[in-house]
Amino acid sequence: MPGLPFDPALTQPLDSPVDPATGEPLDCTRCGACCHAGPGRILLSEDDLLRWRRKGLHHLADHTDEGHFGARAFPVSPRGACVYYDSSTGRTLCQIYEDRAEVCREFQAGSWQCLEFRRDRGLSPRI
Ligand code: SF4
Ligand code: SF4
Repeated sequence: MPGLPFDPALTQPLDSPVDPATGEPLDCTRCGACCHAGPGRILLSEDDLLRWRRKGLHHLADHTDEGHFGARAFPVSPRGACVYYDSSTGRTLCQIYEDRAEVCREFQAGSWQCLEFRRDRGLSPRI
């Protein structure tokens, strides 16, 4: 599931896996495809909600949507992006990077899910 695996303070992603179709390094700061999963698909765990409550981040815990499989999910914009996704600077950033969901933390650039999201958005060719 989606999650930008980079820190907004960085100018480069934490690692640079390669797109197997093109041989080019995957740059999460120029991508953000995995944060465009659509409504109800960026799922939150009970631990996410509990962690946010413990940190006093009630605005995060209180602002969720119904997700698939009975879970809660990040709300999405009309374009299908997570509401915490920000591309206003020309780079793709997570506005809540330090407090992003488990699913975001675990998502791996270069994984087959990553490449599928990129193909869906026309960022990687289908091979
Ligand atoms: S919380 Fe951040 S990393 Fe996770 S889906 Fe939203 S914008 Fe992407
Ligand atoms: S789809 Fe892959 S390359 Fe794009 S932001 Fe997500 S992890 Fe990074």
